[in-house]
Amino acid sequence: MITLQEQLSERINNLPTSQTLAMAAKARELRAEGKDIISLSLGEPDFNTPDFIKDAAKHAIDENYNSYTPVNGYLELREAICRKFKRDNGLTYDQSQIVVSTGAKQSIANVAMVLLNKGDEVLLPAPYWVSYSAIATLAEATYIEIPSSIETDFKITPEQLEATITPRTKMIFFNSPNNPSGSSYTEQEYRALARVLEKHPNIYILSDEIYEHINYGQPTFSFAKIDSMYDRTITVNGVAKAFAMTGWRIGYIGAPAWIAKACTKMQGQVTSGANCIAQRATITAVDAPVANIQYMVDEFKERRDLVLNLIDAIDGITANTPSGAFYVFPDVSSFFGKTIAGYTINNATDFSLFLLEKAHVATVTGDAFGAPNNIRISYAASTEELKEAFKRIKEVLN
Ligand code: GLU
Repeated sequence: MITLQEQLSERINNLPTSQTLAMAAKARELRAEGKDIISLSLGEPDFNTPDFIKDAAKHAIDENYNSYTPVNGYLELREAICRKFKRDNGLTYDQSQIVVSTGAKQSIANVAMVLLNKGDEVLLPAPYWVSYSAIATLAEATYIEIPSSIETDFKITPEQLEATITPRTKMIFFNSPNNPSGSSYTEQEYRALARVLEKHPNIYILSDEIYEHINYGQPTFSFAKIDSMYDRTITVNGVAKAFAMTGWRIGYIGAPAWIAKACTKMQGQVTSGANCIAQRATITAVDAPVANIQYMVDEFKERRDLVLNLIDAIDGITANTPSGAFYVFPDVSSFFGKTIAGYTINNATDFSLFLLEKAHVATVTGDAFGAPNNIRISYAASTEELKEAFKRIKEVLN
């Protein structure tokens, strides 16, 4: 008898597992076994989706929105997204420049698939979100990290950008406010980077602005707002973070029409478009005044301050002050080479696993974000959980 061999493609064999999702799954698994795990791993608001958005979804079901939608999203939604871009970002897009997808993650994957060729280089200012490198790899491109550290508030300089560009550079994945560091670039800093890119007209910019509303006072800015960048920027956003709608899976891009058309062609073969009910609810979400979600941002800011104080009270861990998103990204390298409670810590992955095993607190290793000295802590958790988590962390480190 011939036995069937498990022969996965090189593509999937070369693809790393998403460490954010893997850590969240691990935390769930341990909880199911009865362990009292506090999960500070996933970047997911712990709020419920606001009622006015849920009502819009219920209404859409009753109105029998059940058929395939246009591949690039309902026209009403694309028009609402154009109004949002104008109102929040000062960006003028026509509905033909908008593509709605199954989460910002698919939006980014679409862009990578339609613009990148084998051998193209993608620049990733580090630390960067785990899926950027994986998506670039999936598109057969090579990703090049541009390092930064706490000393520079995790931002790259124009000189670093200039020095990393080669004739093969096709794209830069830019993210502000940043996951995992929480740092935001100022308008001046954007403009300084744009002056470098102006000298290299063949480079596209993917500007991931998913955390724009989770910011603590520093005005956010958009790459496409710079005239010379508009024609080569793909602005990515979505409703997951700002509206506590992670599971609804709606992301979108505003882009040059030819790129939007190609992304539509791509998802026409992959998903046929995003979920119809979630799209209807998103019309209501993006049309709502930003003031409607300010209560969540205020709460996140209080938690950020709490977490920074709690970190301050632990010897050997140092953090910057994030100006947005809901993560802190402390440097834990002072523990490398040490053995604590019989557990040897040689790197950030060991440290993160040590916290999971000994303190029952789930975090994500900085290795996954291109920053091997750090770990990511999501403070999208209740104040009680945060206090208890840091009490445990302090205890095990002592
Ligand atoms: N973006 C979130 C995070 O970084 C959700 C998980 C994911 O898709 O990576 O935790």
